[in-house]
Amino acid sequence: MSDSNTIKFDVCIIGTGMAGMASALFAANRGLSTVQVGSTGEIMFASGFLDLLGVHPIEEKRSWDNPWEGIGELCKDIPDHPYARIEEQDVRAAFDEFLSFLQDAGLPYKRRNERNCLVITSLGTLKNTYCVPQTVWNGVEALETKKPCLLVDIRGFKGFSARQIAAALQGVWPDLRTARIFFPETEHMSEVYTEQMARALDSPQKREKLIAVVKPYVKDAQAVGMPAIFGMSRTSEVIADLSEGFGAPVFEIPTMPPSVSGVRLKEAFEERIPDKGVRLLSQGQVLSVHHGTDDYFVLDMGQETKERTIKARGIILASGRFLGKGLHADRKHIRETIFDLPVTQPPDRTLWHRKDFLDSRGHPINRAGLEIDDSFRPLDSTGHPAFKLLFAAGSILAHQDWMRMKCGSGLALATGFAAVQSFVSLCK
Ligand SMILES: Cc1cc2nc3c(=O)[nH]c(=O)nc-3n(C[C@H](O)[C@H](O)[C@H](O)COP(=O)(O)OP(=O)(O)OC[C@H]3O[C@@H](n4cnc5c(N)ncnc54)[C@H](O)[C@@H]3O)c2cc1C
Repeated sequence: MSDSNTIKFDVCIIGTGMAGMASALFAANRGLSTVQVGSTGEIMFASGFLDLLGVHPIEEKRSWDNPWEGIGELCKDIPDHPYARIEEQDVRAAFDEFLSFLQDAGLPYKRRNERNCLVITSLGTLKNTYCVPQTVWNGVEALETKKPCLLVDIRGFKGFSARQIAAALQGVWPDLRTARIFFPETEHMSEVYTEQMARALDSPQKREKLIAVVKPYVKDAQAVGMPAIFGMSRTSEVIADLSEGFGAPVFEIPTMPPSVSGVRLKEAFEERIPDKGVRLLSQGQVLSVHHGTDDYFVLDMGQETKERTIKARGIILASGRFLGKGLHADRKHIRETIFDLPVTQPPDRTLWHRKDFLDSRGHPINRAGLEIDDSFRPLDSTGHPAFKLLFAAGSILAHQDWMRMKCGSGLALATGFAAVQSFVSLCK
């Protein structure tokens, strides 16, 4: 494709967060010429866990062992939830396709197809999730069997204390020991960072040095947990080498955001998605869009001023919420920022939040978002699709509270899949 001023594509994906990434992959896999635009998004802050459904109803904090059963209940109770517009087989297909891409990109994930798994957080709490990076998996198994385990933290690395995690988990996992080490060649540093250590461990020599430091503490431990630093691009090699060197399977505990796990996802995607033919315009913004007379959308893009114009037959709007900048809250209203689509929201600002910040029902603002039809097309003020080939996916959709329901990535993948399928069938 040439770099002339107005290049034509089948579809433009607006957003490079989880929903945008998934949509771009699904579009490219269906042979659509695809352009994707957006900046980093929330993905940099993500833990790397892929939640499908953890909690419903949120006011009861009911946690689901089988997320598919949970989704069944959720769809009965909240028929406007985006999951209620998607067949279960499509949600499953979305995960299979996305995980297969990550596997090929060198970032394998693991799951128990029909069950959620429990993982340890850096606060020492337990979290229910669906898929975890392979780097975390040995910890899932060790926690299930409560094997004797060593937790290791690192001098100079703030916000991760093995002792604190072990103390918090004492009631559920008594056989935890802890150790604090210097990461090799950082003895002179007052502060160290996960990304720097992870990139260092991509080198076999650095792994050998780390093994020499940790090995004396392992003793009878049958698993070893550390903060997420097991390489950036060679995680499988790092796990294999450390497990062999320590004499016990190793696992990562994701750190506070921004975590290496989110950066890995972003880097794997950005490196591999162009091989699928996707034109990725990262660090770009859609400044304005209009629908041309030739039935193509015309999108002006740039950082702050227009740098290029592209045309696309269809658009998948995966521009996120307030952090992603797909939604904006002014003093009175919540607006959608690109098309000015109607946003379902509480009637006035005083009702955005409940009085108690920790109210178990969550806050109404978190369920604000776009209304869609069954083809995932956002509706205009008359209740009709705003455009024939404009679709929306991810956290911008109304009637979901992904953070409390623990369904962020599942929602992104499933709605991206549904939006792309709808585009394919409607543009025939
Ligand atoms: C701290 C944190 C922890 C998380 N942990 C988990 C977890 O453990 N498990 C889980 O499943 N999910 C987790 N998530 C959520 C998940 O990663 C996704 O962030 C969430 O599902 C929303 O994704 P999204 O793609 O809809 O939006 P976002 O990630 O917000 O992406 C929006 C995108 O739209 C782009 N955009 C907006 N406006 C424009 C414009 N005008 N032009 C071009 N691009 C534009 C932005 O640049 C961005 O790329 C976490 C998120 C956060 C923040």
